[in-house]
Amino acid sequence: MQPFSHDAIAPMTDASGQQRPRAEQYSALERVDLITRIDLVLPQTQCQQCGYPGCKPYAAALADGEASINQCPPGGETGIRTLAKLLDLPYLPLNTAHGITKPKAIAMIDEHRCIGCTLCIKACPVDAILGASRQMHTVISQECTGCELCLAPCPVDCIIMQPLAPSQATSAETPAKAAQTQTAVAVAAADLARRRYQQRQQRQEREKLARLQSVSQKKTGQTAADKDAIAPGTDAIKKAAIAAAMARVQALKTGTSPTKDYE
Ligand code: SF4
Ligand code: SF4
Ligand code: SF4
Repeated sequence: MQPFSHDAIAPMTDASGQQRPRAEQYSALERVDLITRIDLVLPQTQCQQCGYPGCKPYAAALADGEASINQCPPGGETGIRTLAKLLDLPYLPLNTAHGITKPKAIAMIDEHRCIGCTLCIKACPVDAILGASRQMHTVISQECTGCELCLAPCPVDCIIMQPLAPSQATSAETPAKAAQTQTAVAVAAADLARRRYQQRQQRQEREKLARLQSVSQKKTGQTAADKDAIAPGTDAIKKAAIAAAMARVQALKTGTSPTKDYE
């Protein structure tokens, strides 16, 4: 994975250079702002190696002081230094329990071996895989973050990670210019991944809501049906009670005893 850098982030110090209080002392609005600023410097690989279900949840955990700045292997050392500066925390080496920083790679599917089970689609955090049930699947390379989350679910191991060649400086570019270009490309890729991750989260929320509504409607339908089912029974009981009362009245008039069934 390529280290990610984002230099245009102000440190979390006030005008006098004093360290800001920890996240729990921020207002709700300040917390949201801090999470957004942290998320902006995360690589958006959405690989979950930090122990959180995406970059934004890790950003929230950092803002809340619940995670360390050294849990993101794709961000690498540059990422840790950027987070340390942003949060006014001391630098820590990468915690390799979360993985190691690797060169950037993207997933490729061997389409001849793919059985179209769709498991990789369900695992991809940025919807970078196209396909349908029992059809071959393919990765949209520009949208793949290299998170590797699609590898494990594939039952036939037909997905491989293809390392990307680091972008080379053209003869017209100085090394500084080439580094600038590389940073711009990384920022654009991170922005795209962030958008696609958010879109997927929103879609999943909508689907969840639709499922809940459907279940609720089914239950409401069942309740109405149950009432309908009970209603005839209730009517029958009422009719029987009326008949019994009339029989008793008739019996009193004629001087005969009503049958036991009507008692
Ligand atoms: S890139 Fe992976 S490890 Fe880093 S913050 Fe995002 S989800 Fe976590
Ligand atoms: S295609 Fe695979 S490696 Fe690429 S983003 Fe999706 S899950 Fe991650
Ligand atoms: S998980 Fe593997 S076999 Fe299943 S659709 Fe994806 S690539 Fe094909």
